[in-house]
Amino acid sequence: MLRVAVVGSGPSGVYTAQALVQQSLVPDVHVDVLDRLPCPFGLVRYGVAPDHEKIKSLQNNLRAVLEEERIRFVGNVEVGTRGLAPARLRELYHAVVYCVGAAKDRRLGVPGEDLPGSYSATDFVSWYSAHPDAAGNGFALAARSAVVIGVGNVAVDVTRILARGAAELHPTDVPHTALGALADSRVREVHMVGRRGPSQAKFTTKELRELGALPDAAVGVDPSDLELDPGYADPAGLPAVNRRNVEVVRAWAAASGTPPGRSRLIRLRFFLRPVELLADGGRVGAVRFERTAPDGTGGVRGTGTYEDIEAQLVLRAVGYRGVPLDGLPFDPQRGTVPHSAGRVLREGAPSPGEYVAGWIKRGPTGVIGSNRACAKETVTSLLADAPELLSAHRIEGEPLALLRELGHHPVEWPGWLAIEQAESTLGRSLGRRSVKIPDWAGLLSAARGEAVA
Ligand code: NAP
Repeated sequence: MLRVAVVGSGPSGVYTAQALVQQSLVPDVHVDVLDRLPCPFGLVRYGVAPDHEKIKSLQNNLRAVLEEERIRFVGNVEVGTRGLAPARLRELYHAVVYCVGAAKDRRLGVPGEDLPGSYSATDFVSWYSAHPDAAGNGFALAARSAVVIGVGNVAVDVTRILARGAAELHPTDVPHTALGALADSRVREVHMVGRRGPSQAKFTTKELRELGALPDAAVGVDPSDLELDPGYADPAGLPAVNRRNVEVVRAWAAASGTPPGRSRLIRLRFFLRPVELLADGGRVGAVRFERTAPDGTGGVRGTGTYEDIEAQLVLRAVGYRGVPLDGLPFDPQRGTVPHSAGRVLREGAPSPGEYVAGWIKRGPTGVIGSNRACAKETVTSLLADAPELLSAHRIEGEPLALLRELGHHPVEWPGWLAIEQAESTLGRSLGRRSVKIPDWAGLLSAARGEAVA
């Protein structure tokens, strides 16, 4: 029997487990999918926006995989500095596949970045997604004006959540305290700002269009921000997604005035790069941007003219980055683990029995489905190595029993089902659908089948 541990139960981990059991080269394979959290599904549970129900429903596909006979979910087991060392984990399995994603936000590297009122979008997302490690309730929703830096899909997500009314979020699984805070939000203007032009923005068209379909928010685009963009003037030669993005932005720019009776305004801005967050009474009060212009090679250069945009709340949505896992090699430049076709490289040579898939392998790009092909490539490498791994590595004992001996308290599938049950009971008691439990204590007691306060 080939025993494999997959570390991380987000899409890349689950697709890796699926590819392992859906092949016939090594029929007797058993996979444990470990997760630091007692809940599976990674960013599908803790990253996909609560109002994106269709993408969220992907959980059903992932769930079906984790319920397969030869796959086990093993939650509440951390691998790394604070938990199980990779070297020790390697002794429990023939092979380990790290699918740990890119857990941190990229930094802007400008003065004032850490002023009160300025947060990474990933922290904001974690908060409204009820991640048990999310920092409190301290988002500056008393702000009148918010700036979102970046024009990728995360920027669009946080802009949309800020621009939605509480009634729109009530049917979602947003935790109750976050729903209350968003209901009290005084944010009226959200400026979503890109350093390049609309033809180079990273958002996808479906996500962009949603901003224009919000019931209580209008979208404004400043035509003078667009003139600099060569792709905007002549979109014919652009890749399809960029061309469609340009068409949407163009229609908004051409619209005269904002529809009446909307309580919030989303302003899309381009060719502005953040150079400083300015303080006002010890908190962020504005963001200073430098006007940019295309440099002819796809990038931008500064022009020496500046514009300040008022903001008592700043969300930095400039991408995720991978974090090193103690005991695994790491390329700090790329924020990934060095690999060859998914085989972890130590000093340039494949390390037997160690693999990577997903964002920690290829960086934080692509849609959820991109992880399928990525996982397949890794699994192909692993299966090619399987005969050697099976003969070279003798495993003593049952991994779960050994994990318990080492002091871990794994939450298995029935524990997760109990959490789900508790979340639907909590939702019913609040007159809502299933509502997420936002804290460790609540999750772990729910996993033990105890009632949640
Ligand atoms: P992203 O797509 O890489 O976008 C990052 C944005 O930040 C870009 O606009 C980038 O501009 C900008 N940026 C980077 N450094 C900057 C700086 N120093 N100053 C100003 N702007 C800066 O990252 P993301 O939005 O975090 O998304 C990560 C991945 O998750 C993507 O693949 C995304 O599609 C996916 N995702 C998908 C969905 C969905 O499908 N609904 C939702 C959320 C996330 P430049 O282009 O100029 O570098």
